[in-house]
Order: sequence, then structure tokens, then C-alpha cells
Amino acid sequence: MLDLPFDLPAFAPGSVWLAGAGPGDPGLLTLLALHGLRGAEHVVHDALVDGRILALIPAGVAVESMGKRGGAASARQADITARLIELARAGKKVLRLKGGDPFVFGRGPEEALALAAAGVPFRIVPGITAGIGGLAYAGIPVTAKETNSAVAFVTGHGPDGEMPDEFDWDALARGAPVLVFYMGLKHLDRLTSRLMAAGRRADEAVAVVCDAATPRQAVLETTLAEAAGAVERAGLKPPALLVVGPVVALRRQLDWWMP
Ligand code: SAH
Repeated sequence: MLDLPFDLPAFAPGSVWLAGAGPGDPGLLTLLALHGLRGAEHVVHDALVDGRILALIPAGVAVESMGKRGGAASARQADITARLIELARAGKKVLRLKGGDPFVFGRGPEEALALAAAGVPFRIVPGITAGIGGLAYAGIPVTAKETNSAVAFVTGHGPDGEMPDEFDWDALARGAPVLVFYMGLKHLDRLTSRLMAAGRRADEAVAVVCDAATPRQAVLETTLAEAAGAVERAGLKPPALLVVGPVVALRRQLDWWMP
């Protein structure tokens, strides 16, 4: 199917491949994800998967959109897992395709646990997560020798849509020089206030990267104190990443990307 000098695993009937599609650019698909796309009989994708990737699915393959997207009408997680199990039990080769990496803020673990509990064979196909690969398309590395040797990946809202409060914001603010927030726009104002209250500087560099690695990519550089107002004025919409820390400044030299 792909002309390669090594074998890729066969897609077994009655199994589910839980695959990441990367942040947008179809060139960031892994060989395994492409192999899965070409070999699946039924694709269940979430709302974040880029249309150019869906266009790679061969004609005649059933394609279903089932996924969450901050606030928008979306399938219930229980319905999604039930559907995956149903399709697998009907003997289909099922590709569950998610934006980025399936195990990073993507409900992939929940789906894999449900498959495991149901005794449905599955394979995890990691993808390039937006918080690393998407930021690279904005010229922002998540670590660099001269700036930081730790980075924290954080969700800006919990499963209930509220600000996550299960972690220690003070420890987070002190613990990692670079913070990468997924789903950070909804509570941006509160989130930046929490970080400043926990000791991060008001003039600390922030980048907001929308639709990373797609032709619509847009990057706003601002500061912690000004981020919420600047995002509102610019009318930026999800999906967006928020990066806080000294790596943002490297974009001045590293902004390589052109649509
Ligand atoms: N599993 C995904 C994340 C899913 S959570 C991954 O590994 O990338 C959804 C959030 O991911 C969005 O709200 C946004 O914060 C981020 N995201 C995903 N794709 C993005 C993109 N192309 N540009 C900017 N942010 C993106």
C-alpha cells in the first residue's frame, strides 16, 4: 500500500487503531497513521482533524465525525466508545482518528480503556501533538538550551469546561519556566491572572498560536498582563495554544513558516 522497505503492521478485522493526525499539515502524519487511513474500513474522526487529511481516506470507506469541540454540540464520550466497540464487534477495521496525539488531552486514554475493558484489540498510533509540533510551525521550540530545561503542558479547561483546579497553580507557576496551555482561550483572563498572582511577571512573553500548521495559522505575541485583551481585540478563536515563557522570544529568529 505504501512502498516501503519494511513491513507495517496489518490492520486486523475487528480491531481499532487509535491514531493521531497531528496538528494540521498532512505532511505531519506518521507512516502508521497513513497506513491506517489507507487500510481502514470505517473511520471515526474528531472535529479537529484537518480536511486535507480526511481527503486521504479512499473512496467507499465509511467516515463518521464524532468528537468534542469546546462547547459546540458534540457527541457524548460514552456514545463514541460504544460506537467504536460496536463497529469492532461487527468485524470492521476501525480507525479512530484524533487531532494531534491521541494520548495528549484527547480522550484517547478513556477510549483505549473502554476498548480494553470490552476485550476489543487495539493499537495506539501516536501523533505529533499541537503543543510541540504546532508550536514549531510558529517558530517556538518548547525547550532550548539557553532558556529552559523544563516545560509543562497544561489544559486550560477541565472535562467539565471549567478552569482546572485540581493542580497547584503556585507550584505550576514556579515549577516550569515554559508553560504550554491547550484549550486556553476560554478562561484566558482567569488563567493569566492566576499565573500573575502566583508570581509570574506581568510583562512575561506570551504567544497565542491559532490553527497551527494549517494555512490559517495566526500568531499573536503579547504579555501575560495584556493577553486576554489582545486576544479579544484580535478576535482570535480556538483551536489555539498559549505559550508562556522565554522561548517565545526565539520566534524572532525562528519564524520560518509561510502559508
Ligand atoms: N490531542 C490533541 C489536543 C486535543 S485538545 C493534540 O495532541 O494536539 C484540543 C486543543 O488542542 C485545542 O483547544 C488547542 O488548544 C489544541 N490544538 C489542537 N490542534 C491545534 C492547532 N492546529 N492549532 C492550535 N491549537 C491546536
